[in-house]
Amino acid sequence: MAATPSVESAARGAKNPSALQFLKSGPKKLLIGGKWVPAKSGKTFETLNPANEEVLALVAEGDKADVDEAVRNARKAFEEGKWSTMGPHQRTRFLLKIADLIDQHADELAELETLDNGKSISESRNMDIPGAAETFRYYAGWATKIYGETNPSDPGMFSYTLREPIGVCGQIIPWNFPLMMASWKIAPALACGNVVILKPAEQTPLTALRLGELILEAGLPESVVQIITGFGPGAGSSIAEHPDIDKVAFTGSTEVGKLILKASAGNLKHVSLELGGKSPNIIFPDADVQAATFGSMLGIFMNQGQVCCAGSRVFVQESMYDQFTDSLSKMAQGLTVGNPLDPNTRMGPLVSKEQHDRVLGYLKAGKEEGANAKVGGAAGNQERGYFVQPTVFTGVKNSMKIAREEIFGPVASAIPFKDENDAVFQGNDTTYGLAAAVWTRDISRAHKVARALKAGTVWINTYGMVDPVASFGGYKQSGFGRELGKHSLELYTQIKQVYTKL
Ligand code: ADP
Repeated sequence: MAATPSVESAARGAKNPSALQFLKSGPKKLLIGGKWVPAKSGKTFETLNPANEEVLALVAEGDKADVDEAVRNARKAFEEGKWSTMGPHQRTRFLLKIADLIDQHADELAELETLDNGKSISESRNMDIPGAAETFRYYAGWATKIYGETNPSDPGMFSYTLREPIGVCGQIIPWNFPLMMASWKIAPALACGNVVILKPAEQTPLTALRLGELILEAGLPESVVQIITGFGPGAGSSIAEHPDIDKVAFTGSTEVGKLILKASAGNLKHVSLELGGKSPNIIFPDADVQAATFGSMLGIFMNQGQVCCAGSRVFVQESMYDQFTDSLSKMAQGLTVGNPLDPNTRMGPLVSKEQHDRVLGYLKAGKEEGANAKVGGAAGNQERGYFVQPTVFTGVKNSMKIAREEIFGPVASAIPFKDENDAVFQGNDTTYGLAAAVWTRDISRAHKVARALKAGTVWINTYGMVDPVASFGGYKQSGFGRELGKHSLELYTQIKQVYTKL
């Protein structure tokens, strides 16, 4: 039996009374059938504060038996039409209510997110939490705008389509934007009339669980949203394999995405995958260099670089390579790394020891392959916590391991290029295709390069903009299916063609 965590110590520096109250309220449970219940096995696992490596809370370790029960409830709820046949105006109101509750609890949720994930409080409070509320609000609007079509048919026929929910959706999310990822998954699925079973990442379950409480407070019918915390193999794999789950939506590593796809074959689930990236961020000499430097800094150091669309390969034209990498390095050096609860902190720790070890492994590999860590290149000098210094590698070749594999840490690999063709060629020379950026004042070059890049999102003269109104997803091994915008509706509905003989 694990020891009861000391919230005072693990969450020191936290100020929000509701966040502390949530942490102190005992082991976290699973949300199944409208109730909070322990895992059937009785097992729990620890979730840590990565800034001080102490245990914040014990969390129920759900597995196959819990998933089976949640699926039975979900199926019942879906077939009874508690949600799927509710009037769309009413569904809108529920989703708006969830958005409002997130806003009302924004300080609390931001603090929980920072404690559990390590991201800076300014990012949690200004991006993650408001972003989650906006996503619910955006999809609240769609619930009343999901149309079928009438088809131009023979006068003796009336032919039309219905756009119907898919059914029971299993949603497996990562730890890098815990509440935001929960909102990207739950909000569109609910807008379309589905019921969902969410599995948060084992490293960061807290805000999803608090969201579960808010969803109950909003009054959604029982079993429309259920939450199973636990590990990938166990809770996650049981969702991917389950014969009575109709759709699985996954965000995470490409490696696990492939496992999910295989596991889903048993009952031919609908599958959408948002996977890794190694996104090229291309800087031409005619760019606004100051803006490009700042944008590139955000592109790789935001959220400690634990971003699937991070601009981890910074391509700089040869003529400006030294000057640009100097400025980027200076900016990186100026980032305040430390206690993520401090509003002045720009970079907190990485999420876990595993991730810390992984990133340090890449720093070593980069040096061994001959790249030069112009700044950083080592763990942080804090006594505790999974800190890594913001790192800019120069002298990187696109063939090196640090340019080919997703590091998921604050590590920029700066690669020189000769001309536009070379930039596009090298930029596309990757197995991934999630995002890309181009910085130039030449409007025609900007759009030509945007067309040539094989990526699901291209930013021109900016980096990292993500908005619920616009689609997000990958080319190549970055996955398939587009989330956000109206495209998420494709993921959570299916079309029924109806022919009527008049
Ligand atoms: P990371 O490598 O960044 O931790 P993962 O892809 O391993 O990302 O994890 C993303 C999510 O997928 C987490 O919720 C995790 O528990 C889950 N997961 C991991 N392995 C599996 C698996 N074999 N089947 C289903 N889900 C899994």
